[in-house]
Amino acid sequence: MSLKKYEVVIVGAGISGAALAYELARYTDIKSIGIIEKYEDVATLNSSGTSNSQTIHVGDIETNYTLDKAAVTKRTAKMVEKYCLQYHYQNELIFSHQKMALGVGEKEVEFLLHRFEEFSKLFPYLEVWDKERLKELEPRVVLDENGNDRPENIVGIGAKDQWTTVDFGKMAKSLIENAQKQEGKTVEVFFNSQVKSIEKNEAKGHIVHTEDEEFYADFVVVDAGAHSLFLAHQMGYGHNLGCLPMAGSFYMTNERMLNGKVYMIQNPKLPFAALHGDPDVLADQNTRFGPTALVLPKLERYKSGTYMDFWKTLRLDKNIIIALWKLLKEKDIRKYIFRNFLFEVPLLNKHLFLKDARKIVPSLQLDEFRYAQGFGGVRPQVLNKDEQKLMLGEASIDPGTGILFNMTPSPGATSCLGNAERDLRTIVKYLGKKFDEELFNDELTEGEYCVLPEPLESQKARVNLIRAEIARTHEKFHENYTLSGK
Ligand SMILES: Cc1cc2nc3c(=O)[nH]c(=O)nc-3n(C[C@H](O)[C@H](O)[C@H](O)COP(=O)(O)OP(=O)(O)OC[C@H]3O[C@@H](n4cnc5c(N)ncnc54)[C@H](O)[C@@H]3O)c2cc1C
Repeated sequence: MSLKKYEVVIVGAGISGAALAYELARYTDIKSIGIIEKYEDVATLNSSGTSNSQTIHVGDIETNYTLDKAAVTKRTAKMVEKYCLQYHYQNELIFSHQKMALGVGEKEVEFLLHRFEEFSKLFPYLEVWDKERLKELEPRVVLDENGNDRPENIVGIGAKDQWTTVDFGKMAKSLIENAQKQEGKTVEVFFNSQVKSIEKNEAKGHIVHTEDEEFYADFVVVDAGAHSLFLAHQMGYGHNLGCLPMAGSFYMTNERMLNGKVYMIQNPKLPFAALHGDPDVLADQNTRFGPTALVLPKLERYKSGTYMDFWKTLRLDKNIIIALWKLLKEKDIRKYIFRNFLFEVPLLNKHLFLKDARKIVPSLQLDEFRYAQGFGGVRPQVLNKDEQKLMLGEASIDPGTGILFNMTPSPGATSCLGNAERDLRTIVKYLGKKFDEELFNDELTEGEYCVLPEPLESQKARVNLIRAEIARTHEKFHENYTLSGK
């Protein structure tokens, strides 16, 4: 068996591995990169366009993001946008839709208005849309099945003319192709090559074993989704972590029901994104609702096997049971898990889902949507045994020995170039290589691509008008109530 040698070997050709290969090839003096991928193509699992919601999560309409988190995601999300625009991928793999967070009922409306005041400095392009404006922009969010306005107060905090949507599968392919085009660099991809084990080489670096081949690397990065933790455990790393695979499914409508992305307000007790409706760029822009969230005892959706890998990666023990118990103790989470389980039960699922989705589209009918078979993926959520709790967001293991392991639940596709930058910095430091930070910053960071709408002050005036309108409705209600003698 011949040994193939590279300075860096990346395990996994999803969007994370592809982004790292691109950045190493373009912005460092690393000359040889090998990418080892289990399946026959780039991005067949979670990074595929049909597996995720195709959303660039900037932090402006994701109501579970704090201002600090939004500031970080904004930077990494902009990298995706800048990369796509640099190569002129507009309307090929990056798309623009209007987008909004929708508040329904007074509590949510006030929550969003308050959030707008807090977040509009970071996102000056955000606009406030009342019912009348929403009727023009997103009529199905306002009108009921009889064509009348829905009875609840609603408000949208959103934006137009922003890059909102990416086919992350196509983007992953482009990243590898562009990495291969860098002059003087070797970037080779090995498909149908499952990494079985990785061992530390005696002198330096690591040996990566597949069924048929062996690879030597000065540095290894494992970007294999949930299997990153599987391979880390195998090497004796990350035993304080376990993986809880959360599958996400979708429901597809028969038409373009929504003009843009409509996100609901997140229940802060729930660790997963609230239901949203998105135009699917791979399905004629028809609206796709979801994702749901269901614990699945396997690491890969729509692929055979990986049940044993699930148990090995969970590393079930007392601490994991306590972490799960802490989750289930919360009534809202229990209800959410049970309901999401029912979303997978044929026949019943559509009826239940209809009720939830009607919060976005009040006139939605059963015959207007179907369970999107073959869509969805698995979010490798990480359980921290030391803290006995579910970690939100991404996790990375760096033993400091020239190997990294990354687990990337949502919004891992949006943060692919940001995560790659973090890993790139570790790699060049470890190997004593050069990083062309100026070119990197010039091409991938900063820059404002948005067209600012009305000035902030007039937006804020609209917030006050909406509040005044709510107050007037209250007063009128009380007047009528008193007059009717109740
Ligand atoms: C339902 C859902 C909705 C989502 N929506 C969004 C969204 O709107 N926006 C967003 O930013 N993110 C979203 N995400 C998250 C996003 O899809 C992931 O974070 C991202 O795709 C992870 O990319 P990755 O390359 O790390 O992993 P993957 O895409 O899972 O790729 C891992 C790769 O490693 C390979 N591999 C695994 N084991 C081995 C091995 N032993 N040897 C060789 N290769 C191996 C796999 O075959 C695969 O190609 C969503 C995820 C889900 C499930």
